[in-house]
Amino acid sequence: DSVVRPGADDLERAAEAALRPRHLDEFVGQKVVREQLSLVLQAAIGRGRAPDHVLLSGPPGLGKTTLAMIIAAELGTSLRVTSGPAIQHAGDLAAILSSLEENEVLFIDEIHRLARPAEELLYVAMEDFRVDVVVGKGAGASAIPLALPPFTVVGATTRAGLLPAPLRDRFGFTGHLDFYADDELERVLLRSAGLLGVPLAHEAAAEIASRSRGTPRIANRLLRRVRDWAQVRGDGTLSLEAARAALEVYEVDRRGLDRLDRSVLTALCTRFGGGPVGLTTLAVAVGEEPETVETVAEPFLVREGLIGRTPRGRVATAEAWTHLGLSAPTAADT
Ligand code: ADP
Repeated sequence: DSVVRPGADDLERAAEAALRPRHLDEFVGQKVVREQLSLVLQAAIGRGRAPDHVLLSGPPGLGKTTLAMIIAAELGTSLRVTSGPAIQHAGDLAAILSSLEENEVLFIDEIHRLARPAEELLYVAMEDFRVDVVVGKGAGASAIPLALPPFTVVGATTRAGLLPAPLRDRFGFTGHLDFYADDELERVLLRSAGLLGVPLAHEAAAEIASRSRGTPRIANRLLRRVRDWAQVRGDGTLSLEAARAALEVYEVDRRGLDRLDRSVLTALCTRFGGGPVGLTTLAVAVGEEPETVETVAEPFLVREGLIGRTPRGRVATAEAWTHLGLSAPTAADT
């Protein structure tokens, strides 16, 4: 898999654990969300009560899980972790909720993927601190209300718009995380290098940051790859040269595009004259499924302003031609 995709598997999560900021003031960037959250937490601590439920939205790898952990740490309580897809039946969620201790934080990742019955059970629990435990089966079944201690749900979603309104309304505070600026990613990288005990030059941090697609997870991952390179082929120091050489091995270009991104862009420019061309035709040209092109490569290329979507198909922007080192066709060529 490409090193610049934003998702993470369990192995990577383990590597990330060591690099997670533990307190709000170590969390780099996201100034607005940090300030708002800090007020919510301080007020709750002052009142000695669990804070309102918190919804965190934003693309993968920007720090939602990290913030959930920080919230629990700042409140001095423990964190329980689950996710929408992990909860198959409403009963699974009822079991988790009924085992929560007072003021605990329950983190539900990918909360937009909760099944309907679990979602409905969650509204009630969030609003009334109650679950209805169903006992018996069929006609003899009855629901016994069970009171829950106060607790805080921290939900994470890649798109707040995917949440049904009744669930969204149960959150007293919603924080939206945005992509990070390069100088913020540089700070993330220098902090991580310090924790890993590897010497990272400032220019190398800047180089890695500019290829990390605005995403701390990708920045930390590229840092680990550069560290490997420096250890195996270099002298252990993470210099600018080491960063460039390592990222060349992993085929991450200077804007953070990988091989698939570049082949889509190159096909669009060189085989279709910059478009417009339909998604399926473009996908066939690069030997991929249309869905892969649309969901894996395109979002970043669009965000970077390298391709545009028009009703007639995909088009390359002037920047795309420049990035590939090609000259865009002029009116005289056509
Ligand atoms: P998400 O839950 O949004 O997918 P994570 O919280 O798992 O993202 O963050 C991914 C990685 O990036 C973790 O290693 C985390 O420590 C790091 N990270 C994310 N945001 C920040 C930040 N603001 N400052 C420092 N490190 C961060």
